[in-house]
Amino acid sequence: MNSVESRSEIAAAIKEAVSLASNPTPSISKEEALMRVSPTQLEAVLHTSFEPSTHHVLTCGLGASPGAAVGKIVLSADEAMMATEDVILVREETNPADVHGMQIAVGILTTRGGLASHAAVVARGWGKPAVCGAENIELADDHIIINGERIDVGETLSIDGTSGEVMRGAIQTTHVEPIPEIEVLLQWADEIRELAIRANADTATEAKVARDNGAEGIGLCRTEHMFLDEQRLPIIRRMILASTAEQETEALQELRESQHNDFIEILEEMDRLPVTVRLLDPPLHEFLPEIEDLLEAAAEQALDQEQQDLLEAARRWNERNPMIGTRGVRLAWLKPGLYEMQTLALLDAIADRTANGGTPLVEIMIPLTVSGEELAGIRRRIQATIDNHPSEIVIKIGTMIETPRAALTANQIAEHADFFSFGTNDLTQLTFGFSRDDVESSIMGLYLEQELLQHNPFQQVDTEAVTELVKLGIERGRRTKPDLPIGVCGEHGGDPVSIGVLAGTGIDYVSCSPPRIPVARLAAAQTAITQSIEN
Ligand code: PEP
Ligand code: MG
Repeated sequence: MNSVESRSEIAAAIKEAVSLASNPTPSISKEEALMRVSPTQLEAVLHTSFEPSTHHVLTCGLGASPGAAVGKIVLSADEAMMATEDVILVREETNPADVHGMQIAVGILTTRGGLASHAAVVARGWGKPAVCGAENIELADDHIIINGERIDVGETLSIDGTSGEVMRGAIQTTHVEPIPEIEVLLQWADEIRELAIRANADTATEAKVARDNGAEGIGLCRTEHMFLDEQRLPIIRRMILASTAEQETEALQELRESQHNDFIEILEEMDRLPVTVRLLDPPLHEFLPEIEDLLEAAAEQALDQEQQDLLEAARRWNERNPMIGTRGVRLAWLKPGLYEMQTLALLDAIADRTANGGTPLVEIMIPLTVSGEELAGIRRRIQATIDNHPSEIVIKIGTMIETPRAALTANQIAEHADFFSFGTNDLTQLTFGFSRDDVESSIMGLYLEQELLQHNPFQQVDTEAVTELVKLGIERGRRTKPDLPIGVCGEHGGDPVSIGVLAGTGIDYVSCSPPRIPVARLAAAQTAITQSIEN
């Protein structure tokens, strides 16, 4: 089936289903109408795709963020910034230092990394097409080679973030016409579904998309993403480089001011809806330049003092296994001022919003907790900061459950948590022992081909172990606190099959990237309909 027919066929099917169920004498029920449209079909009509043609596919990576993009290739974020035309940013993998270029690019293509890698998560959050882990692409200084074909910087590529296909030249994209019936269908979905749908959103722009798409709050605001643009990165670097307590306090104060405004904007967009703010999570080296890049620069000319300091810091914070290293709540134990600064920025923003007539509803979330004691200590500090703030603000403090140990000790952790949110990206990584950044471009393809795995567990939640840990964590957590609110904010929260599985565990909500919310609303309704038929 070609994609234009498919798109118009799907549109026709949606229109027919809505019309049949909304006639004065409906011939099908709303539930039947909802069951006629699959989440995949809905996703297909919400994103651009390529016009059908016999285009030659150069290579195929992972379809990491749906949609079609056409642009001239650039190989660095800085080149993307200088471009005057649409560009596709091609990188081995991306990290926070690439975000300014990722924002400009119309599409992102990486040669390493999977569906939970930085490039995939960030692109999905923005609704920007991305293909990740296209391992047959070799990167050189001013060109790339795809399966033997050389493509120079400035030449045009077309990438399909739905299928993962990469093509040479500009392929015509389809026009996405709004289908008003989709909104009717989704309103019916909202009447029927039991699972709440929140968004993973880190900026006011994303929060607006989320709200327009029907999100009922933010389930995960990754605060580190606020430090990723070019102006902000130097501030967090100053904090990392600080060699005295005074310098660190000064840098933290700067961070507090910048984060304060970000919070105000998000809270304004999400007024009256819950916003779960996760305190800083990633290993700090992610905010520093790559050691190799600094060494390369040093080979060309002597590093200035700032570069030397950065090199020293990059070496100091370098870890062999950063994703299981100094990150999450562990950072708060090493640098106590960090979470205090974030909490203060949030409290100031809440106070400002309230003074301006807003109703901010904020929850603070601590990442990567592994024990009750670890959470209790940090919670005490955050609570002291809240208590000492001049405004009288009550904030729930909860934690992510994203390690097997946290799931197994959830009864103890729940003593110090007002809510749980399962970070199923890390939980999958740690349950399988699969690096979320590497495994999809190394052995995942082989494992799927050999049927050692039925699905990519970073895409579709693993029902044999990860879901069991979620169930166990819920059961143990609610043994301590029967009414403990619980959500899932890993990427699985936007995957229709995973939503069906997770809905059966007893969670209250899923949180997913803003562009995936319509699909999540439909999937949650279909799950409720199926459950009611089965019972
Ligand atoms: C997770 O681990 O599932 C999660 C949501 O956190 P992050 O992806 O930011 O590590
Ligand atoms: Mg995580």
